[in-house]
Amino acid sequence: MEDAVTAITKYLVIKKLAGDTLTILAIKEYLIDGLSPSTIGYKYKISKFRVRGYIQRIIDKARSHAAATAVVKAVLPYILGIDPIILRIGNTYICLLCDAHLKSENVEHHIRRRHRDVVNSIVEQIVLKVRRHSQV
Ligand SMILES: [Zn+2]
Repeated sequence: MEDAVTAITKYLVIKKLAGDTLTILAIKEYLIDGLSPSTIGYKYKISKFRVRGYIQRIIDKARSHAAATAVVKAVLPYILGIDPIILRIGNTYICLLCDAHLKSENVEHHIRRRHRDVVNSIVEQIVLKVRRHSQV
């Protein structure tokens, strides 16, 4: 079983590699800035239920709101520095690592399955850094 820091970091790393910065910002604005799911949903033109879904997944991994907030705060600067490996052209998503052409619903699965080593190495580096500099 993965610890909360690793699980949340992996979730956010995969989103960022997939080019889904919006979800990461939605999570940050809820947990750190204290905005409501409907405000965030309005801003990014997604439903507040989807925003709640993202946040619930993070909180489930940390088992508490406070723990989730602490982890997201600590890892966020590193997550935002990661370059996506997916390039979106119209409705096609191209993987820059292996040139696979993907549909949007398969992007995260592709990254998790085909580029597990890349994901794990980025996650390890981030977890190591935050453990050295914070209490999470
Ligand atoms: Zn690929």
